[in-house]
Amino acid sequence: TKILFNDSIIERKKLIDIEDRGYQFGDGIYEVIGVYDGVFFMLDEHLQRLERSAKELQISLPYPISKLKKYLMELVHVNNLKEGVVYLQVTRGEAERWHYFPSSDTKPILVAYTKLEETLRKEEDHGATAVLTEDIRWLRCDIKTLNLLPNVLAKQKAVENNAVEAIFYRGDIITEASASNVFIVKNKEVYTHPANNYILNGITRRKVLSICKELGIKVNEQTFKVKDLLDADEVFITATKLDIVPIVKVDQQVIGFGTPGKTTREIVEAFRGSILEIDHM
Ligand code: PMP
Repeated sequence: TKILFNDSIIERKKLIDIEDRGYQFGDGIYEVIGVYDGVFFMLDEHLQRLERSAKELQISLPYPISKLKKYLMELVHVNNLKEGVVYLQVTRGEAERWHYFPSSDTKPILVAYTKLEETLRKEEDHGATAVLTEDIRWLRCDIKTLNLLPNVLAKQKAVENNAVEAIFYRGDIITEASASNVFIVKNKEVYTHPANNYILNGITRRKVLSICKELGIKVNEQTFKVKDLLDADEVFITATKLDIVPIVKVDQQVIGFGTPGKTTREIVEAFRGSILEIDHM
């Protein structure tokens, strides 16, 4: 397959220097953008978030977003990707290893490639299991950086327990999960952690919030506790290409009736509808 390397679409090969700051420090940012039936889902939102992450870390993007957008579309086209994601990352570039920023003439390095990925249809329909784990991340979880060790450790714990996700708690507050946002439903109202420095403001999360508005489901962007999660009527997680997965068991505790709840199913249905719409634009 082909990849985007800075401003050229080329064959995949080994290209990155041992002194790339992404490789040495995790000094970079990324996005994972969903592709459904060959078409990007919410591409502009992802690229806006990339711009924000870059700004927060003072990484300069190599060229304007409008140009990047054209390259990404070309990449999906040349690789003939139908169902999957585009992984995109930008590092601060290659420079002699010192912690402080390299000189301003250091060029950022941008890489993007396509990856096959199917939606978790079975889990979406029947629900899945999650585990709880302490949120040991830094206090700028709103920036989508390459530093993912706490997320890696958490996801490994989930896998070792045959769970799809590890849900983070900080103190007694549920923040999000290792690679997704967390929602609960209680008395037909939806709750999710506010979009602040403790969570990544997911693109799927934002779509779910707008779907709830359209469906007349009340959403509370408010913190809730571990106990509220375990006592919830319904729990679900959201992320790019994973879409919406109902969580029916957390650590050995059954949630609600142990099957995907009515409100979750309603939101899943509307979400699937919005994906079908983009394909026909
Ligand atoms: N939170 C974290 C920590 C994530 O890694 C992700 C997935 N990138 C999300 C939330 C979900 O974000 P999105 O819906 O934009 O994929």
